[in-house]
Amino acid sequence: MNDVQDLADQAEAAEQRHRDAALAVRKPSLLACGQCHFCAEPLRAGLLFCDLECRDLFEREQAARRRNGG
Ligand SMILES: [Zn+2]
Repeated sequence: MNDVQDLADQAEAAEQRHRDAALAVRKPSLLACGQCHFCAEPLRAGLLFCDLECRDLFEREQAARRRNGG
């Protein structure tokens, strides 16, 4: 029985769960499609928006759309 290794495994498992949870929270409902979802600017793979401004504007637009029942 190796308690130290056991603790290390537990810590690792907890960290993995933490990471999964963080990813789940941050996981956008959008797919990175190679371009900005707001202004359609070409982007590097994995990016959703060119900058925070585009993201904010996009989210504002989405929120407005939801409020309008769309
Ligand atoms: Zn953009």
